[in-house]
Amino acid sequence: MSFEQLGLSTDLLRAISDQGYTKPTPIQEQAIPVILEGSDVMGGAQTGTGKTASFTLPMLRRLEIQANSSMSPAKHPIRALILVPTRELAMQVYESVKTYGKYLTLRSAVIYGGVNIDAQIDVVRSGIEILVATPGRLLDHLQQKTLVLSKVEILVLDEADRMLDMGFLPDIKQIIQLLPDHRQNLMFSATFSEGIKKLASKILKKPVLIEVAKQNSVSELITHIVHPVEQIRKQELLICMIKQQDMQQVLVFARTKQGSDHLAQQLSRHGISSAAIHGDRNQLQRTQALGNFKQGLIRVLVATDVAARGLDIEDLTYVINFELPKNPEDYVHRIGRTGRAGAKGFAISLVSREENQLLIGIEKLLKTKVKIEEIKGFELKKQQPQALDKKAATDEKKYKRNALYVQNKKTSPFVKNGETIIRLNNEVVSKHTRRSEIKEDPLFTQPYESKVSDAETVILTQDELSKNIIHKSLRQSNRPLPTLFISPVISKQK
Ligand code: AMP
Repeated sequence: MSFEQLGLSTDLLRAISDQGYTKPTPIQEQAIPVILEGSDVMGGAQTGTGKTASFTLPMLRRLEIQANSSMSPAKHPIRALILVPTRELAMQVYESVKTYGKYLTLRSAVIYGGVNIDAQIDVVRSGIEILVATPGRLLDHLQQKTLVLSKVEILVLDEADRMLDMGFLPDIKQIIQLLPDHRQNLMFSATFSEGIKKLASKILKKPVLIEVAKQNSVSELITHIVHPVEQIRKQELLICMIKQQDMQQVLVFARTKQGSDHLAQQLSRHGISSAAIHGDRNQLQRTQALGNFKQGLIRVLVATDVAARGLDIEDLTYVINFELPKNPEDYVHRIGRTGRAGAKGFAISLVSREENQLLIGIEKLLKTKVKIEEIKGFELKKQQPQALDKKAATDEKKYKRNALYVQNKKTSPFVKNGETIIRLNNEVVSKHTRRSEIKEDPLFTQPYESKVSDAETVILTQDELSKNIIHKSLRQSNRPLPTLFISPVISKQK
């Protein structure tokens, strides 16, 4: 299907063509006609699938019919409101609105916290049809009566799952009360928790459910690798990997603000130019760090989950989890920065003994076992049997049933078409990695079935690491875009 067949105007088609897009992505193909018809939409899509254009293009098409070039602010009421969880995503969505709407006379603005409100007040007072906003700052404006939402025809909730995670539900409820009842609602979320389903049932009217990919498509583009390592040696291993594999643009995730600052400093001290991006950094610092990273002026961007939400970085090959996220769904969001627009990516996690349970949760969500590669010289220390208490010994037994054995020269289950991503040691080593406390995760009610019968443990020497043999043939065209979709309960209406 082509963009021309989707019912967009010539001005929008020109803007799309300027961007060099040749055909719509799956979510665009499905969402654009439905939104043009005026239906509410529940979209299951994550960043990287082209979802921003999937709602922005039909929204612009619907609004452009009444666009005018009057100088009077009254002639430009807010007709579309796009709520997003973070400032970075707000800026990105706003950029998309401007890019796709560049041949239209519609006006738009973006408002988010962390910057002076006065400049934003001037812009919204001048009259705008499309407002991109984070919930907190929008409420500030509403309290100061610098804008009204009584003419809103289209409401978009982008990355709704993250908005709930960040505690924006009360703000969203407050904002929705100020909107006219008669409006079109579009909600996008990468995952569908109970909270999301509840919110969807409150906001959406007869929504059309748009599914963009099969459940297991994450692993088709992204190679997931776990390096087991002691917590205290993670930094050393990270430095070693970046240097020896000559990684040039790496997004590293740390769990805390202080941790990300410290890591960025340590990397810089070891000659790897780095910056940290997190909630305590002001907008200018965050924008600068991101800009420097995108331009290749720094090699590593260390980010916390909240700060990295929605980052649109093209051609990012490596995402490294310095620490695994507490919430398995954040793993999906993190790795959404790589393997975008058909390119191949690598999600590498440095996993300490204490994080085994988190890894199990992630594997359940991905419905696959992640490849384990020990790096020689950085292996986990063996635990003394006497140090294991009774419970641990039982867990050990349990674990042995699922033991992970090294298999010599076995092709990775994640590698398609016989492509080789790692070279194994010559000897066969039989080994297992202990994962204690295997429990059912209450997040997952479905039985967990791995696609891979036995995951492999592979030992790589530092020398092998240095040969950079892991990551060849990084780009592949005509591959599906990476998405993870968990079917919500909402039934398909169309
Ligand atoms: P999003 O999922 O909205 O964050 O978009 C991810 C990236 O895909 C952005 O850099 C877009 O510019 C790009 N993109 C969106 N639609 C298309 C398309 N139809 N063809 C190629 N790239 C696209």
